[in-house]
Amino acid sequence: MAEVLKGKPVADAIKAELINRVEKLKTRGITPKLGIIRVGARPDDLFYEGGAKKTCQGVGMDSEVFEFPENIDQASFEKAVMEIGAKKDVNGILMFSPLPKTLDERKIRSLIPVEKDVDCLTIGGAAKVFTDDSTGFPPCTPTACMEMLHFYNIPIKGRKCVVLGRSLVVGKPMAMLLLREHGTVTICHSRTQNLPDVCKDAEILVAAVGRAKMVKADFVKPGQIVIDVGINADPDNPGKYCGDVDFAQAEPIVEKISPVPAGVGSVTTSVLCKHTLLACEMQNA
Ligand code: NDP
Repeated sequence: MAEVLKGKPVADAIKAELINRVEKLKTRGITPKLGIIRVGARPDDLFYEGGAKKTCQGVGMDSEVFEFPENIDQASFEKAVMEIGAKKDVNGILMFSPLPKTLDERKIRSLIPVEKDVDCLTIGGAAKVFTDDSTGFPPCTPTACMEMLHFYNIPIKGRKCVVLGRSLVVGKPMAMLLLREHGTVTICHSRTQNLPDVCKDAEILVAAVGRAKMVKADFVKPGQIVIDVGINADPDNPGKYCGDVDFAQAEPIVEKISPVPAGVGSVTTSVLCKHTLLACEMQNA
């Protein structure tokens, strides 16, 4: 039986640290604030937004949602994003994506001030991550994976790490974060040959592929640590969701595995708040 790496204790530990640091800022009359920019009302966005607001509230931080209709035009939205970016009391900004196709998302992302880019939406933010600049904020999801590894005392240095997926929001920054901590990193994608064998060779396997239960028994081996980032509709349980790893197949084989739900996904809003607090501390240094 593998050790199941639950996200909640990790999130609780982050939140406990945040509460202390927020209190310190409050003695200086400063309350960190997250600004959430949402266009339209997709259920997934609303769900994440609710979680982010609740986490902010739980650690004593403020949050404000800036909501826009789906038919907003480019010029009006650019102006609004610049105004939000300029607000002194907003320390971190999360903008849900993708934006409606009528909007130039690349241009709009670039209007978010890098020092408030707490989920790595800007090229400047990504540059900081890829150049190991500690003033930058990697996307919350790969950071949550790192928080999981740290909390459960899983060594990274010198170990074979395989990241399954190469998106800009998860796979690539995940690889950079593992590399920063001296992992020996391989990135896999849809053109990787002998995928099960490459994954099986990992000591730490991070699955961020967006395919329900794709990682089967032949992808894993005893002694392995498996972090499952996936959030997919569960084909076997309508209305439920599942990871990229077939938990029932992998869990009896590997040493440690994060579940879905209740794994990485439980940690991301705490990381979002942590990044906003760090941004606030830097803006008020
Ligand atoms: P993307 O669709 O952007 O990227 C998926 C990656 O997986 C791509 O690099 C793609 O390769 C690769 N891939 C797809 N199919 C295969 C295959 N059959 N074999 C090998 N590689 C494959 O997804 P994201 O990175 O945005 O998200 C990944 C997963 O993480 C999703 O399930 C998503 O829901 C979840 N997620 C979870 C979050 C959380 O907080 N827990 C937050 C964000 C995402 P290629 O580049 O070659 O196309």
